[in-house]
Amino acid sequence: MSAPAYRYVGPPDIRAAARTAPPGTPVGSAAELTDWLAQQPDPAGPFTYTVGTDGVLRLADRRSEHVACAGGAAVLGAGEVAFAAGRRVVEVSNLSTGYCPDTACWPAVAAALERAGASHPGGFTHPVVFRRCVECGEVSLVREGFFVCVFCEADLPGHWNVTPPQL
Ligand SMILES: [Zn+2]
Repeated sequence: MSAPAYRYVGPPDIRAAARTAPPGTPVGSAAELTDWLAQQPDPAGPFTYTVGTDGVLRLADRRSEHVACAGGAAVLGAGEVAFAAGRRVVEVSNLSTGYCPDTACWPAVAAALERAGASHPGGFTHPVVFRRCVECGEVSLVREGFFVCVFCEADLPGHWNVTPPQL
C-alpha cells in the first residue's frame, strides 16, 4: 500500500518564486545526515523538511518554503524538524502551509527519518490539524480541537480534506 502524496496547495506566487530557489538536500543515509548537519550554522535546527514520493528526506534552511525544498513536487510529508546530538530528532511537526499534510503522514516521515539514520520520538511532537472550510474555501489550522473556521466561523469537517484547488 502506498502512502498518499500531498500536492502543493499554497499561493501560486510562492510556488513561482520557489522555482528559482535551491531544492532541499536529499538525505538518504546516516552518513549524509551527519554531513549535512555538520554544514549547518546551527546543527540543532529547526529545519524545513519534505519527504518525496521516493521516500527520501529532504532538508533545507528553516526559511526555505516547503515547495522549494521539494522542488515543486508532491510529497509524502512535510514540516519542521529539530535535532539533538547523535542524529536524534527532538522536535518534528507536519507544519507546512504549502502542503497542509494530514497527521496521518507520520509513518512516511518516520520511515524517511529512519532511512537517514535518525532516531525519532515515535510521532509528531507538534501535530498540526489542517482542514479546508467547505463554506469559504480557506484552509484553517484546528487549534485545541476547536473545529471552527477562523475566517468565517463555519464548522470544519472531521476528516482531512485539503485537496488542491482546481487547476
Ligand atoms: Zn470558512
